Amino acid sequence: MRAVTVTPGVADSLRLVEDHPEPAHEEGAILVESLAVGICGTDNEIIAGHYGEAPPGTDQLVLGHESLGRVVEDPTGTLQPGELVAAIVRHPDPVPCPNCAVGEWDMCRNGRFTEHGIKALPGFARERWRVQPRFAVGLDPALQRVGVLLEPTSVVAKAWDHIDRIGHRAEWQPQSVLVTGAGPIGLLAALLASQRGLAVHVLDLATDGPKPALATALGATYHSAPVNDLGFEPDIVLECTGAPSVVLDVMCKVGPNGVVCLTGVSSGGRTIDFDAGALNRTLVLENNVVFGSVNANRRHWDLAAAALAKADPAWLSSLITRRVPVDAYADAYIQQPDDIKVVLEFAS
Ligand code: BGC
Repeated sequence: MRAVTVTPGVADSLRLVEDHPEPAHEEGAILVESLAVGICGTDNEIIAGHYGEAPPGTDQLVLGHESLGRVVEDPTGTLQPGELVAAIVRHPDPVPCPNCAVGEWDMCRNGRFTEHGIKALPGFARERWRVQPRFAVGLDPALQRVGVLLEPTSVVAKAWDHIDRIGHRAEWQPQSVLVTGAGPIGLLAALLASQRGLAVHVLDLATDGPKPALATALGATYHSAPVNDLGFEPDIVLECTGAPSVVLDVMCKVGPNGVVCLTGVSSGGRTIDFDAGALNRTLVLENNVVFGSVNANRRHWDLAAAALAKADPAWLSSLITRRVPVDAYADAYIQQPDDIKVVLEFAS
């Protein structure tokens, strides 16, 4: 069968392999026919040779951690043939650490977790894959065109879950949220914010293209000015750019008792002048919290599936700005100016 692979650590080793082996039974009892995989910055980092690890005993990694497929067979009876399914990206470490032991693999403490399409587990950019019932998430049949957004939605569902938990250290009645970055993570974070009834502000450099309209369709206010020019102090910031100057600006901008959640992965290596003492002073005197968030556990995947099921399907569909058939796989990984989410399609 066909599979999109790379040799981790080797730049530009992206290939479409025609005779990739069928998925091994050990991967899981549920056999799935792939419909689509979403592409994100992590894939591009792996393709550039900066990130990623092949499964033990091979130097090839099948790419793709944002999955959507259709169940072919499930002898366990967990899902029915024909059902839509996505697979959870991260598997717990083998020790397991205290967090992985209770299903919180997103908070793994020893770094020995594995991740499909990223770290030591094959990804989903192949015609068929298998999944164990505990890592399979069934999707509403109406989500056939957009269910591939489940993985990035799980990432923001976790971010929101942790914002809530942190907020509840004291009386917590947030009114406003600022989302920085109107890429897929930022826009999905804004969707979940609007589902919570908050006043949503989305900030991005783009003044044209699809981003402003996607934000305003959620009822959000769209800003393309610098963070420091905003005329209000948000209760919550969801930082989704990873741009160092934006990260620093939002930490200073958030209001008293504010929570700043960082989700963007910066490339690092560049330094900027910054008054760390002034930041410390603000964080202490305002009881502010800044925290990082990555990945998601089963609970977050289920929350994400519920959030997608109640979202406007037309809005979700317009987040997918390009659908590339697998024959033209290389085009999917070359970023175009107006891309939000690009999807590689295996079947429809
Ligand atoms: C994925 C996460 C993963 C992270 C780090 C992200 O692109 O969405 O599931 O934990 O990369 O590998």
